[in-house]
Parts: sequence; structure tokens; C-alpha cells
Amino acid sequence: MIYQPVPDYHMHTPRCHHASGTVREFAQAAMALGMKEIGMSDHSPMPNGYMDDWRMDPAELHSYLTEVEKVRDTLARKLCVRIGLEADFRLGSEAGLKRLLKLYDWDFIIGSVHYIGDWDFDNPSKLSQWDKVGVEEVYCAYFDLVGKSAVSGMFDIIGHPDLIKKFGHRPPDGSKRVLQAEEAMLQAVKKSGCALEISSAGLRKPVGEIYPHPRIVARAAELGIPFAYGSDAHGPDAVGHGMDECLSLLESCGVHEVCVFKGRKRSMQPIVRAKVKQSRVSHAKDRQA
Ligand code: ZN
Ligand code: FE
Ligand code: FE
Ligand code: ZN
Repeated sequence: MIYQPVPDYHMHTPRCHHASGTVREFAQAAMALGMKEIGMSDHSPMPNGYMDDWRMDPAELHSYLTEVEKVRDTLARKLCVRIGLEADFRLGSEAGLKRLLKLYDWDFIIGSVHYIGDWDFDNPSKLSQWDKVGVEEVYCAYFDLVGKSAVSGMFDIIGHPDLIKKFGHRPPDGSKRVLQAEEAMLQAVKKSGCALEISSAGLRKPVGEIYPHPRIVARAAELGIPFAYGSDAHGPDAVGHGMDECLSLLESCGVHEVCVFKGRKRSMQPIVRAKVKQSRVSHAKDRQA
């Protein structure tokens, strides 16, 4: 490991129907890596009874909170467990989501755009829709929604801020429209005071890249937008995945700290290089000297 582990703020539970492992197992995986803090953030129920097959049912919210609270309290001396949600930003659902967010004293809320209109564009079973749309238009619509999600004021972290690239669909190189949409998104994030997520999930997806693109990280850093790290683990084995790559990218852009949250208040934690274990040879030399 190049860096001392930072908190992983993006993890799911089996309530979203595409994850495995108990919260305790996620916590144990984090502790095994030397993490001092994690944030659970399962896919939120949707207001107005809107349901798809990859989120928890409203009736499961209680068991989600009880399970995470129990692990938090049991491990209190070893690991700090923060309680959050990954909530969808969908136009028209804002009022319902605001009601949901008032139901509990969350530590943090990740706001994610997974839909353009009714199309959950990151769903592998909806891939054929890509053949019917213009990639540039879709990218612009996506970044526009991400900007709106930040401005909505409902979220602390903007999840995987260029998820639209998940399957490797790319606008033409240097597309002015897309670059402008990216910039407008970042300006909205800056204005809103939200943090961006740096997510290793893209490394495990067809695109094979960290979310967001290094160009976006660099520009966000220039604007002073802070970052929180998330693996988007859907199983204990993915906890902390790609952390070194993510932190290296941040460092290369001049970012030297990451966000942590408690009661929806943000504070910053430095990114620290791991101490390199001295080899026996150098030890021996030290003693001779
Ligand atoms: Zn998921
Ligand atoms: Fe997501
Ligand atoms: Fe997620
Ligand atoms: Zn996610």
C-alpha cells in the first residue's frame, strides 16, 4: 500500500438485491485493511413508491439502520461507522426524497444520478437504449442532472460523477458541448459546497477507469472542490478497492486531503503516505553506523 487507508464511504448491503455480505463483514474487511472509519450507503428507497429491482424497499429501511447501528455500537472502539444512503437524484422526486432524508439523523448522503428520464443508463439490461441515443446528447443531459443534483442542496457527496462512461460509450474527443457541460457541472458543485466522490468502481466496469476522469479531478482541484473516497463495494471483498489508485490520482492533481462526515458536517483528513518498512539490510547498516 502506498497510502495509509482513508475511510471508504460507499458500501451497499444485500437489501439492494445485487450485493452480498453483512455490515459486520464489510466492517471487518475494512479493519483488516487498517481503516479507522467507513460509511455505509445502501441504495435508498424511492419516494412515491417508485420501485426498480436494485434498491431497498421502504419497509427495509428500518432493518438497514438497525443493522448498521448495531455494528457501529459493537465496534465503537475499533472502527468508526458512519450511516448514510446513496440516494437517486431524479427530477420530480425531490420533495419525496427531502421527506425521506428527514426521517433519520444521517451522517452523510451520497447523491447519484443513475437515470436520464426513465432510463437507468447504468443498468446492463438497458444497454440497447444506447443504440437509440446520441452519445454527446446523453453526456450533456447527464452532466446537467449531476449539476442540478448538487444545487438541490440535498447531498453531501456527488456519487461517481461521470458514471455515464460506465460501459465505455464516449463522446467524440474534445467535444466542446461535453466539455462545457462538464465545466457547468463542476461550477454547480462548487457553488453548492458538495464534495465529489472519487470512486474505484469504474476500475471494475467495462470502462476500466476511476470515476471521475483525471481531467475532471484536476479541474475540481483547481476550483477547490473536496473529494471523498468510495469503493462502491457490493461485497466485503471490494472494500477499499483501488484506494491507492484513487489517492494517487488525487495527489497528482494537488489534492492532499479527503472528506469525512458526521451528522452531515464535513471535516477533512490528510492523505498520508504509508511508512515504508525498512528492510533488514538497512536496519543492520543503521546499527553499524
Ligand atoms: Zn448498487
Ligand atoms: Fe450509484
Ligand atoms: Fe453505490
Ligand atoms: Zn453506486
